[in-house]
Amino acid sequence: MRHKHVIQMSGGAGSFLAAERVKAQHGTHDMVLLFADTGTEDPDLYRFLDDACAHLGVPLTVVKDGRTPWQVFFDEHFLGNSRLAPCSKRLKQIPCRKWLEAHCDPATTTVYVGIDASEKRRLPGVIKGWEGWRVEFPMCDEPHLTKAEMLDELRKLDIAVPLLYRVGLEHNNCAGLCVRAGQRQWLLTLQAFPDRYAFAERQEQEFRAQFGRDVAILTETRRGVKRPLTLAELRRRFEDGTVRVPVPVPTSAT
Ligand code: SF4
Repeated sequence: MRHKHVIQMSGGAGSFLAAERVKAQHGTHDMVLLFADTGTEDPDLYRFLDDACAHLGVPLTVVKDGRTPWQVFFDEHFLGNSRLAPCSKRLKQIPCRKWLEAHCDPATTTVYVGIDASEKRRLPGVIKGWEGWRVEFPMCDEPHLTKAEMLDELRKLDIAVPLLYRVGLEHNNCAGLCVRAGQRQWLLTLQAFPDRYAFAERQEQEFRAQFGRDVAILTETRRGVKRPLTLAELRRRFEDGTVRVPVPVPTSAT
């Protein structure tokens, strides 16, 4: 049986460039580009995926749970945060795994994830999540690329840089509302997409009211005590000038 090369396409530059590296080594005949759609992505992510797939010459394979991250949080009575994000498991890992189990044999399949050398701390968790499958991380191999260098690679290939990177976000996922992101990304989202931020802020308040718990996506530590920092509070601090939006790394579309 031929060996299958399944790239977990996240919509990020890293997973596309990982696919490029796999293509250089193995060609595309046995390549699968697997994308788990959370239903809350930025419209430009789909444009980027279309461009990426056209460049690679491989169609996109889409899996979908059907819920959004917020629906998962309400279903599970648990608000995702930087340490624990059930949305990732429900909307990405499980649908991808089910697809693999239905269409591939672990003995003749390699799964590739676009994590880069700067994110190596995430490897043990990802390897554990893919237990039973061979998993590789092409972007952790030399040459190591910074995010800016990855975006330059896109420009060289005439692929427009996804919008979320252009406004300074580190990751192109969940329309800039990733619960794993820190204060920096949320402030950039507040600046670039105030309506999206307002939506997440309302959802967080609704969750707190419905379950009667003092929880938040973000936390802060004051005088050695860790406590929730709501999106509403972060916005108020931004509005009264207590916190400022970080200067994004400048990048252009082309
Ligand atoms: S990108 Fe963030 S918010 Fe979206 S599914 Fe993954 S962990 Fe959850």
